[in-house]
Amino acid sequence: MGTAGGKFAVNKQLRASGGIVVRIRGIQFHIDPGPGALIKANDYNVSLRGNNILLCSHSHLGHCNDINVVIDAMTHSGIDKRGILIGSKSLVQGKDGEKSYITRKHKGRLDKILALEASNVVKFGNNIEVRTLKTRHEDETGIGFKIFCDKFVIGYSGDTTYFEGLIDELKGSDILILNVLKPMGHKDESNLCSDDAVKIIQAVKPNLVILTHFGQKMLEQNPIYQAREIQRITNIQTIAARDGMTINPNTYAVSLKHKNLHLY
Ligand SMILES: [Zn+2]
Repeated sequence: MGTAGGKFAVNKQLRASGGIVVRIRGIQFHIDPGPGALIKANDYNVSLRGNNILLCSHSHLGHCNDINVVIDAMTHSGIDKRGILIGSKSLVQGKDGEKSYITRKHKGRLDKILALEASNVVKFGNNIEVRTLKTRHEDETGIGFKIFCDKFVIGYSGDTTYFEGLIDELKGSDILILNVLKPMGHKDESNLCSDDAVKIIQAVKPNLVILTHFGQKMLEQNPIYQAREIQRITNIQTIAARDGMTINPNTYAVSLKHKNLHLY
């Protein structure tokens, strides 16, 4: 429900910033509900009432601004207390003297709130689990996510710069969603650029890569061309996400059979 990344692209709404919705066997995940999540859900016919699990990677507004209204939408303003939130410590507990972006009232509308660091595992019904991943970002409590089910693994980098160990975090992803802020030839100490994406993809070898979280420079260069170039170099299917884009993850589920054995 949005592919904007970084201050300028979000503030000017060069792309939308409502986050990513993943549906697996009746469980609806909403990842990083940034500004406009409510409006974009309406535009794209996504029922936020259907959200079961909120995953929020860190406390930058582009990733969490709409968290309270999303909680309201999923709980009928608290009439139906439900749902689980997994978020960074900065989001849930606040950081550097700032209060949490989630109001106490809205926290009370959820069944469970987990403030997690990297390397945690949360299991749900239907053989679905979420693991939290390390990142290196301006919000140092930020996390990424891997969602496991018996058919595929979706990896989401969250906001992070490239660091040794990032590849290990993302390995095993069948579908890899990378927040790539800047195009080829750029460097960023807090975010991924296209050259970093190439390194990661060559090592992780997923079935599909989805690039998102585009900054102004990336948009000027056109993410579609960046994705084509990354695909040419890595020989792995790479697409640049568009606002409102949907894909069927089952199409990219190939390799999980043996992974499943040691998971469950
Ligand atoms: Zn950020």
